[in-house]
Amino acid sequence: MLKGFGPKKTQAFASAGICTLEDALYSYPRSYEDMRSPRNVCDCADGEKVLAVCRVLSVQKGRGYGRKRTLHVLAEDATGRLEVLFFMAGYMQNAFTVGEEYYFFGKVKAEKGRVTMFHPDFGPWDESCRGILPVYRLSKGISQKDYRKLTAAALDLSDSLPETLPESVVRSAAICSNQFALKNIHYPADENSFQQSRYRLVYEELFDLKIALALSSKKERAENNGISFPGDAAFRFAESLPYALTGAQRRVLDEIVADMQSSESMSRLVQGDVGSGKTVVAEAALLQAVSCGYQGLFMAPTEILAAQHFDTLQRDFAPYGLRIVLLTSSMKAKERKEALEMLRDGSAQIAVGTHALISEGVAYKNAGLVITDEQHRFGVSQREKLAAKGRNPDVLVMTATPIPRTLALVLYADLDISVIDEMPPGRKPIKTLSFKEKERKDAYRLLFAELEKGRQAYIVAPFIDDSESLEGRSAETLYEAFTRKHPEISCGLLHGAMSGAEKDRIMLDFYRGDISVLISTVVIEVGINVPNASVMLIENSERFGLAQMHQLRGRVGRGEYESYCLLCSGSESEISRQRSEILCKTADGFVIAEKDLEIRGPGEFFGYRQHGLPQLVLADPVRHAKLAEKAGEDARALLALDPALVLPENAPLRDKIKKKYLQVDNITM
Ligand code: ADP
Ligand code: MG
Repeated sequence: MLKGFGPKKTQAFASAGICTLEDALYSYPRSYEDMRSPRNVCDCADGEKVLAVCRVLSVQKGRGYGRKRTLHVLAEDATGRLEVLFFMAGYMQNAFTVGEEYYFFGKVKAEKGRVTMFHPDFGPWDESCRGILPVYRLSKGISQKDYRKLTAAALDLSDSLPETLPESVVRSAAICSNQFALKNIHYPADENSFQQSRYRLVYEELFDLKIALALSSKKERAENNGISFPGDAAFRFAESLPYALTGAQRRVLDEIVADMQSSESMSRLVQGDVGSGKTVVAEAALLQAVSCGYQGLFMAPTEILAAQHFDTLQRDFAPYGLRIVLLTSSMKAKERKEALEMLRDGSAQIAVGTHALISEGVAYKNAGLVITDEQHRFGVSQREKLAAKGRNPDVLVMTATPIPRTLALVLYADLDISVIDEMPPGRKPIKTLSFKEKERKDAYRLLFAELEKGRQAYIVAPFIDDSESLEGRSAETLYEAFTRKHPEISCGLLHGAMSGAEKDRIMLDFYRGDISVLISTVVIEVGINVPNASVMLIENSERFGLAQMHQLRGRVGRGEYESYCLLCSGSESEISRQRSEILCKTADGFVIAEKDLEIRGPGEFFGYRQHGLPQLVLADPVRHAKLAEKAGEDARALLALDPALVLPENAPLRDKIKKKYLQVDNITM
C-alpha cells in the first residue's frame, strides 16, 4: 500500500476492494466539487451548494459537553458574513485559527439576510484544494480526504502510465491517452479535459467488451458441429397441453426447434418476464432431445428451484414413461449414487438439479441438450462447463431478467435471442401501491389482513444488518421488531450471509407454509413459486432498482388469490416518487427496465447494476449505444488485421482483455 496510510486505513481500503495502485486509479469519482471560483457570500442563494472562501472571525463552543459540543464559526469575505455550524463537533475544537482564510463547501441556508452552512466540507484555502475535486463513494473507515490523498498519490506514482489501447486505435478513434484520461477523470483540469477523459474511458470499456465478445464467439463458432434432433416431438407435446401456447411461446418454440433440428449447435437465450411461461417451452425442448435418444439436463440456481422444476417435470411427463432424476448437493450418498448410475448408463433420460449437475464425478451417457434457468446467476464459464458434459450439446439459457434489447445485443452477442413478450391469458394483475414513511402502518395493515385470510407474505429490506451504515431498514432489525411485536405469527429471516443449507431450510419452511412471513434481503428474487403468498412488502423501496422490484413483485400473484406489492419508501424525493409510480402503473418488465435506464441520473446509484457486467463502470450500453457501435467497428477492424492479437503492439490489449474477462467468459488465449 501507499506511504502515509497506517494499517487501519490500509485495511479499510482493502475491505472496500482497493488493494493495488491500479484499484485506486480505476475507482472513479461519483461526482465532483467545483472549487475553482468561490462565490461571494452576498450572492449565496438559499438551497444552493456553493464554495465560499472566508476569513474566520470567531469560533464559539456552544451547548453540550465533550464530543457533543456544538461549534459555531463566524467568518466573512469582502461581501458578507457566513455562519457555520457543526454539531457533535467536540473533536474539532482546534480545527480553525481565527484570522486565517478557509474554504467552506456546502449547502447554503439564506434567510432574512443571514447566510448559514451546516457541516460543510472545509479546509485551509491553499493551492491543494483549488480546482475540480473528486467526490468518491465512501465506505466504512474512509473519509473523502483519505480517498483524495490516495488517488492523488497513486497518480503521482504513476506519472508514466502505459497506453492500454493500440496506438492505431487511439489515433483512429481520436481519443486522449490513458495517462491523460486517468489523471483527468480524478482531477479534471477543466470541463473539456474531463469530457475528453470520460469519453476515452467509456470508449475503452466498450471496445474491450467488443473484443472479448468477438474472441469468445469466434471460438464457439470454430467448434460448432452439433447434434441434429429431427422430428416434431416438441410440437406434439405443446398440442397435448390443457391450454394453447401464447403466440409468443409458439414463436419462441419454433425458433428453438429450428435450432435443434439443424446440425449446428444451439446457443440461445430465452427472455421472458416472470410468469410468461418459459417452463413449458423448456419442457418441449427437453422432449425433442429425449425423443431422439439423447439426455436432457435442466439446471436451476438453487435447490428449491430445482426441486420445483423436478415436481413440474414429473407431473407433465407422466404420460411419457420417462426416468427423471433430481441431483442436488444435499442428497444422501445412496440416492446420489443411484442417480449418478442412471445418468451414466442412460437409463435416466432427464436430469434436473443445481450446479451439482456439472460437479466432478458426474458423467452422462449422451447429454444432448442443456437448459439453464435464471442464468444470470451463473457465470458463462459454468455454462461452458455444463456444455462440456456432452459432446457438443445444444444450450438454452432462460432468464426473467428484463434486459432491454439494445443491452442484450451487447451483452449476449454470442447468443441468439428469443423473447416471450406476451403473458398467458387471464392473469390477475398484482395491485401495486406506494406508501410514504408516515403511511407505513397502512401497508402493514394490509399485510396483516392477508395473513388473517391465511395467506403468506414477504417483507424485503435493502440491507442485512445495521452495520452497513447506510440509511434504511435492515432485515435483521425488522425481523427482531416483528417477532417481538407479533410472537404469535411464525416468521423467518433470510439473507445472503447465511449458508446455502440454512437458506434452503428457511425457503422450504416458507414453501410448505410453516412460516407465514418471510423477512429477507433480495436473495429471494429468483423464481421461487409459493402460490399462497399474496403480499410482497418492500421496505426502503428507493434503495432498489426498478427491474429488481419488478422481479420481487413476480414472487406473488402466482396462485388464485388477489395479490399485493406494497412499496414503502423512505424518501420523499421526486425521483423516488417517479419510480414508485412507474411500478404502480406498469406490469411490463421490459418497459420498466427501459424506464429504469432513462431516469437513472449519472450520479444516482441504486445499489444494483442491471446488466451485471462489472467490467462496465462508466459505460452504459444503452446510453452509449452509438459509441458502442463505433467501438465494435474498430474492434472488428483490429481483429481483421490481427485475429488472435499476437502482434507485439497489441500485447498490452491482449493482456488486459485476458485479465478483465477471463473469469467470466470463455476466452482462451
Ligand atoms: P416463468 O416464465 O416465470 O418460468 P412458468 O413457466 O412458471 O413461468 O409459468 C407460469 C404459469 O403459467 C404456470 O403455472 C404455467 O403452467 C402457466 N402457463 C404457461 N403457459 C401458459 C399458457 N399458454 N396458457 C395458460 N397458462 C400457461
Ligand atoms: Mg421459471
